Amino acid sequence: MLFMEFSRCCEQLEGLSGRLEMIDVISRELPGLSADELPIFVRFVMGRIFPDYSQTKLGIGPNLLYEAIGYVAGVRKEGVVEKINATGDVGQAVEELLAIKSQTTFFHEELDIVRVYSELNAIALQEGKKSQREKLLAVRRLLGNAHPLEARYLARIMLEELRIGVGEGSVREAIAKAFGVEVALVEHAMQALNDLGEVARLAKLGPDTLKDVRITLFHPVRMMLAQAGTIADMIREHGQIAAEFKYDGSRFQFHKKGNWCRMYSRRLEDVTGALPDVIEKLLGATDHDVIIDGEVIAIKDGHPMPFQSVLRRFRRRHDVAGASAEIKLVPNVFDILYLDGVTLIDLPLSERRKKLDSVINFFVAPQVVSDDQKVIEKTYLSALDGGHEGIMLKVLSSPYSPGQRGRNWIKIKPEVDTLDLAVIGAEWGEGKRAHIFGSFLVACQSEGKLVAISRVATGFSDEQLAEVFDLLKDTVTAHSGKEVTFEPTLVFEIGYSEIQTSPTYKGGFALRFPRFVRIRDDKDIVDVETLESVFDRHQRQSKTGQAPAQN
Ligand code: AMP
Repeated sequence: MLFMEFSRCCEQLEGLSGRLEMIDVISRELPGLSADELPIFVRFVMGRIFPDYSQTKLGIGPNLLYEAIGYVAGVRKEGVVEKINATGDVGQAVEELLAIKSQTTFFHEELDIVRVYSELNAIALQEGKKSQREKLLAVRRLLGNAHPLEARYLARIMLEELRIGVGEGSVREAIAKAFGVEVALVEHAMQALNDLGEVARLAKLGPDTLKDVRITLFHPVRMMLAQAGTIADMIREHGQIAAEFKYDGSRFQFHKKGNWCRMYSRRLEDVTGALPDVIEKLLGATDHDVIIDGEVIAIKDGHPMPFQSVLRRFRRRHDVAGASAEIKLVPNVFDILYLDGVTLIDLPLSERRKKLDSVINFFVAPQVVSDDQKVIEKTYLSALDGGHEGIMLKVLSSPYSPGQRGRNWIKIKPEVDTLDLAVIGAEWGEGKRAHIFGSFLVACQSEGKLVAISRVATGFSDEQLAEVFDLLKDTVTAHSGKEVTFEPTLVFEIGYSEIQTSPTYKGGFALRFPRFVRIRDDKDIVDVETLESVFDRHQRQSKTGQAPAQN
């Protein structure tokens, strides 16, 4: 498929607002694509380049891209930034700049999507001192061969934000429609493979190929997530339930084959190098080939340490030995997804647990199974007494649902008056803070879009503001007066006293007394709170007249 054809398809999709029409357009493109093209098209149309399980990162920030655009369009970088600010979109800006330029350029090499992908892959693989320069040259080459319309989508893909409103759900449905397979089958294959591109390729081969999909070792699977709820509701709905401590640490997924292993964080980043002692402990806990799920916590003098100290440890990769002596890291394993070549995610939790108990010799998180509220409450109190966050309640008959925040795992903790929100904008500070950002615009998500819900300016130490500035300064996509807009990359946990309805923000809600609690660098933008759950909290709070309590 020519990149021009892909671009026209994106242009068409961008002009549509109905989800069904979008699914229709995408599903009509898919059957004509070759086995090589299918995965690339599917990822590109969602604004992604590499499979979700992949560790490969493009490594092109807005600044590098703007510089390359400037070069190709024959204007200064500042001119590019001005244009972006005027249009509000890098894609439109580059398209307009190249349209002026291309009247004087006669030669274009035709790009196709396979070539674009392989060039982007080559860019991602550039490492070392000169890599930024090499990346810049490669981006210039790519853009230099692009027609203005192609450049619109190429630039957006490079920032992995296509802005055509196509989410994973629509693409799943389009794949099902294109190849006449059940959506549930596509979803299921996606859960195991964690790459919708590959799923599309297999769907073309027929439903049996999709049914046969297995988890692959060293391709991390998305983590199953939890919702808030109550002990009483869980027992009423399910009778016997499983209760485990809710450990306040960092989620991990550990893959092991023989003596070779890798550990992935909640964001599916490879963190093996940062945790040698945990790796050693887990390697020694089983002779089997496994994928296990758990939470690593930091223990000092027998007590769990706050979450942040574990995170610092993840970050301090260069001082691994020093960090090990300071605090002890202990894995708590609570699930098993794969055992000796067999994918286990469809088994009920009770069966998975039996396997877990029989093949993992140490570090398995204790589990209490009961339908007695008092027994579960006792577990909850002993969790809090032990310095843990609360408990997790799990439905015994439930499968492991990668990436889903369903009602099969329920978290019970004393207070939930915080929300994890995406940082989408900021305002420059004042006085001694004039050179850094002083207040931030934060957003929840709704149908794949980020919806602003609050501004937060309190709760930060000077040190934290400096850290946040460092993390955000290269992600600025637009300026307007004192305001800046970010490419969303960072998640804040925000405390509040109340959720109020408000006309100020599009979502209809605002936070009263918002305060910064911490950076959630274990969370991705897709993990931020949904507008739906903000609505739920608001409902519960209106009933009780206060912030929701959990039990
Ligand atoms: P939250 O981050 O508040 O949505 O809570 C869910 C998180 O709790 C999971 O992603 C895990 O990192 C963590 N967690 C701690 N203990 C457990 C457990 N026993 N089972 C599942 N998740 C747990």
